[in-house]
Amino acid sequence: MIEVSELGAIPLLAQVPIEHLAQVAASAADLRLAPGEYAVHEGDERALFVVLSGKIEVTKSIDGIERTIGWRVPGQVFGEIPIVFGIPFQGTFRAHEPSRVVRMEAAQFHTLAAASPGTLTQLAALARERIGGLQGIAATPARTRATLLGHGSDPACRELRAFLTRNHIKFDWLTPDAPDLAARWPGPAVRPEDYPALHCDDGSTVYRGRPREVAQRLGLQTSARGTEYDTVILGGGPAGLAAAVYGASEGLSTLVIEREAPGGQAETSSRIENYLGFPTGVSGSELARRALQQANRLGAEIIVTRPAVGIDVTTRAVRLEGDVSVHARTIVIATGVTWRRLATEGLDRLLGKGVYYGASRSEASMTQGRDIHLIGAGNSAGQAAMFFANHARTVTLVVRGHSLEKSMSHYLVGQVRGKSNIRVALDAELRAVHGGDQLESIDVLDRTTGSVQRQDSGAVFVFIGADAETSWLPEEIARDPRGYVLTGEAVVKAGRWRESRDPYLLETSVSGIFGCGDVRSSPVKRVAAAVGEGSMAIAFIRQFLAGNP
Ligand SMILES: Cc1cc2nc3c(=O)[nH]c(=O)nc-3n(C[C@H](O)[C@H](O)[C@H](O)COP(=O)(O)OP(=O)(O)OC[C@H]3O[C@@H](n4cnc5c(N)ncnc54)[C@H](O)[C@@H]3O)c2cc1C
Repeated sequence: MIEVSELGAIPLLAQVPIEHLAQVAASAADLRLAPGEYAVHEGDERALFVVLSGKIEVTKSIDGIERTIGWRVPGQVFGEIPIVFGIPFQGTFRAHEPSRVVRMEAAQFHTLAAASPGTLTQLAALARERIGGLQGIAATPARTRATLLGHGSDPACRELRAFLTRNHIKFDWLTPDAPDLAARWPGPAVRPEDYPALHCDDGSTVYRGRPREVAQRLGLQTSARGTEYDTVILGGGPAGLAAAVYGASEGLSTLVIEREAPGGQAETSSRIENYLGFPTGVSGSELARRALQQANRLGAEIIVTRPAVGIDVTTRAVRLEGDVSVHARTIVIATGVTWRRLATEGLDRLLGKGVYYGASRSEASMTQGRDIHLIGAGNSAGQAAMFFANHARTVTLVVRGHSLEKSMSHYLVGQVRGKSNIRVALDAELRAVHGGDQLESIDVLDRTTGSVQRQDSGAVFVFIGADAETSWLPEEIARDPRGYVLTGEAVVKAGRWRESRDPYLLETSVSGIFGCGDVRSSPVKRVAAAVGEGSMAIAFIRQFLAGNP
């Protein structure tokens, strides 16, 4: 119960008439926080908080790293910036020690301020002062966590750049011929055969490092902390992260196993326009960053660079690369799909040297000022075309069919057609790629005339669809002829269900093992569907665990 005298002792509220303080005392929330418990999160809606006892830490995520930017002690308030400027919270406030905090809703505060205009003036002055502090933080140059030294044409360097980008690790990239190399490379001299080299913020340098070693050096989790979990989720794309958020928030011990970096295919999408709640679209990378933060905050464990390579359906042990296993009471398969390969002359030899499957943001600088080609006509090719058109001189979409409209969403066709440096070659097919150490040119067949034309090319990105890569799953987990995992009714129809009860909608042919997202046999391959299924899987898991304590 909040006492009027407690509120009256707060300097900001000293001028407020006692009857208004009494109203606040009777209606505001009285939060008693344990150490580590949150009062409010960055991005939350407006409210004003008053600290009655304890100590509150203010943190802000800057370039993916959580930094402490201040403290609030008894007598102080927080939430003044959201209240005064009408914006969401710009930082996260959490108890550092047992604390007591009063939460006033925005409407409550405005009623109180109407009776005491001086309070509003004081709060506005405080908000202006504190937003000045935030501007100072924003103006401080971002701290990089690593410096990478390597050639742009080296596939190992490209792999590390993509890996660091996808894991939201801020890094500087230097090429060995950079004129200011001596001034900017913080590590010891590197022999050419040791490229790529990565200097980490702990002072160490990794030579020719693979993603797992780099991940460990940069403090990313690559091994499970425990040996047994309520649910182990395979794959950290939208489906897996949604399952992690729901699993952890329902109190299940939850482990996500991701073979590369969290985010899945969506992470590589430059703009998802059709995900609910983002009226102007959201980049896949931003969506993945937020989902990862949310899953982490709720307590899910997420390990990266560690593919699952087998499941023992009898013991429900998941085997990971590196010959380690974790035991799971339930398993969620959310491994999505992998780019389909193209059997074109010369392509395998130049893979990573100008020829790529899919695309990631880290490749943008490599296409700067060049003429590049994208193979495919789906939404992923369209989004990549829009993204690279801001960097490349020209982007040519090489399309086998007669029109884009058949395979690309209407809104994207409009955007592609409206961009002056994107060309669309219809009825066209990639026939060969040429180059020595690096891609130089490509042969394109005109399917209407049968003629083949050689064109200079700075990069080729292939987007011809994707398949489920599930050959590593045990035979007991039923799949359709294309490798997609069967669930629910489809398992029964295939004659693969052995239990006396009906399977849950997302349950595979093995009870307690669920499938969701793009890896599931279903015609819908969308972020929203993956997220929905990931969360539904947890609801079924709860029911399953209740029946199998
Ligand atoms: C460029 C692009 C643009 C897109 N744009 C849109 C859009 O605008 N709107 C829309 O709705 N959808 C879009 N999509 C489709 C959408 O991204 C997918 O439907 C969605 O990502 C599926 O999520 P998922 O979690 O099921 O699988 P995925 O996103 O494929 O994630 C699967 C994850 O599992 C991991 N994995 C695979 N095998 C293993 C293993 N053995 N062990 C551990 N981890 C493993 C992978 O590394 C990956 O991170 C786009 C896709 C692409 C590629």
